[in-house]
Amino acid sequence: VPFSDVQFQPIAHERIQQALRSGRVPHAYLFAGRPGVGREMMAARLAQLLLCAAPKDVQPPVEAGSGMSSWRDACGQCEDCRLFQGGGHPDFHRIYRTLNKHHPDKLVQKRKALDLSVDVIRHFVLDCVGLSPSRQRAKVFVISESERLSPSAQNAMLKTLEEPPGQSYLIMIATSADELLPTTQSRCHHVQFNGLPGEFVQTALIKRAQIDPDAARFLAELVQGSLGQAMQYARQGLYGSVPALIESIGLAGEDPLAASKLWQEQAKTIAEGAGEKKQVDAEVEDESAGGDEDDGDDAPVGPETRTLREAQLTMLAILSTILRDVQRVSVGHAPAALPRERKIGEWAGAAPREIAKAIRAVATAEFQIELNASAGLIFDSLAITISNTLFATAVVKTR
Ligand SMILES: [Zn+2]
Repeated sequence: VPFSDVQFQPIAHERIQQALRSGRVPHAYLFAGRPGVGREMMAARLAQLLLCAAPKDVQPPVEAGSGMSSWRDACGQCEDCRLFQGGGHPDFHRIYRTLNKHHPDKLVQKRKALDLSVDVIRHFVLDCVGLSPSRQRAKVFVISESERLSPSAQNAMLKTLEEPPGQSYLIMIATSADELLPTTQSRCHHVQFNGLPGEFVQTALIKRAQIDPDAARFLAELVQGSLGQAMQYARQGLYGSVPALIESIGLAGEDPLAASKLWQEQAKTIAEGAGEKKQVDAEVEDESAGGDEDDGDDAPVGPETRTLREAQLTMLAILSTILRDVQRVSVGHAPAALPRERKIGEWAGAAPREIAKAIRAVATAEFQIELNASAGLIFDSLAITISNTLFATAVVKTR
């Protein structure tokens, strides 16, 4: 499980390798970027290296494009590496929301793990961060979904982030630094992770999820660089809902309120599919990440409304992906997500300005869904906008 497994993150690699080379590895890292682009993998690689008894120099892969002639990496053979790879290194701690189920306090266990609570942070991080490592070398804590750390949990961590004791390292994983309190941000060393190239996501989907090239192409376009997200969508068969959603756009032109209704139903279907195998942030199929197997992999964690909101957002992202293809074709480019869909070409006859309005309306709807506004009203209004933009010229023509 070498560093080179983390692909297309040259800047992150460079930052980390420079720190390793200088011998001054920051004790509090913040890995920021969208889920499923390699943040958790990188954190696991770094953790293994910090725990390894005999780190070595390796040649960086050519495609890493770094100017460095060598990288530090774990040996992969010492007892620490073996323990780590087996998922049982005593000095490696994965911290995630649903750890509350393993908390000694029954009341904490019973609570729904909507956020990463101060109880989890106190018991699983702060109470043991100061103890000396079981195997002498280091203690590494990887905190997943740090954007969901409650303010009190973040405040409780401040002192530890400021001055992590001895050989302790904390790696916070977050979607973006801005989602953490400024006091937390300023105490961490930031490393930004980018989206993965679409072609890479597409190829990996075909290979790992064994889906057909059309589905892979669409999903790669949908996720905009997150392989982890694409894998999850592939597993839940999301591509199956695309034909109905293409139809629904046409329906919006004739009967906007019927289209809105259909979207609400589609979102429910997607939520059911997602509920069957909900993986919180499994990242890029990283089974070697060590730690607890039972990592947030239980649906009842959030209330059902959360899953439904997420499904509504996914549904809107699909609409947006379809409309972006319409936009591409309208300005003379080839469609990226749906190369063989006849309707895309038809709708591309609308004025580019109107198509842009429709795409903006989807973005507005996403924003409102995130604010927990009423989905029915949001979808009604979106369908009416799509009808008035995408199909405005069509109506004029038929008169
Ligand atoms: Zn080793």
